[in-house]
Amino acid sequence: MVIKKNIESLKAELPATCRLIAVSKTQPVTLLRQAYYAGQRLFGENKAQEMAAKQKELPADVEWHMIGHLQTNKVKYIAPFVALIHSVDSEKLLEEINKQALKNNRVIKCLLQVYIAQEETKFGWGIDEVPALLHPEFATAYPAVEIIGLMGMATFTQDEAQIRNEFGSLKRLFYTLKQSKLPANVTMMELSMGMSADYKIALEQGSTLIRIGTAIFGERNYQA
Ligand SMILES: *Cc1c(COP(=O)(O)O)cnc(C)c1O
Repeated sequence: MVIKKNIESLKAELPATCRLIAVSKTQPVTLLRQAYYAGQRLFGENKAQEMAAKQKELPADVEWHMIGHLQTNKVKYIAPFVALIHSVDSEKLLEEINKQALKNNRVIKCLLQVYIAQEETKFGWGIDEVPALLHPEFATAYPAVEIIGLMGMATFTQDEAQIRNEFGSLKRLFYTLKQSKLPANVTMMELSMGMSADYKIALEQGSTLIRIGTAIFGERNYQA
């Protein structure tokens, strides 16, 4: 079974400090089940309704990770169960996550998505914007949100030096923040970086969560 083999060989490459997220967007539930029975428990999706539908079909011990751009009007679909939202990229979204978390009587863990790529299509905060966002009132503004780290995507390029530089800039921000005085609901525990094409460089730069789709499930079929 190729999915099982892919998961096992990826896991064998990971240091103890890094966990594997199986990015299952567009994939049918039958393939998620194969990954589940191979021992995979962390799954990443990029559409709220697709995640909510799959959540109903898989066992309750799956950890669901939202990795794609999230519109505020979609937060409600995942707020009851989502384990971690990697793609927090605006204060408007923070407000909505806080509101939906309160409604569901829980605290929702999030990462701040930081813009590190030389591409115009990527969402996220600029590196310089993050310290100002984490002002002392952040904890009273978003009491039902817990920020536990940062997420970033490198430029889609063959240039490994550039990718290494971009991940390196996120790593530096992560360690700078880790050593600063942060609001009560903010810690720097997780650094989400690395996809199928660039996860080896991300590991070398200290990633704690790699998000792997293609290298587990094969090419995505968007027509399906
Ligand atoms: C799709 C996606 C991935 C996985 O990409 P692969 O190249 O298939 O591993 C990782 N992160 C995000 C944010 C994605 O949207």
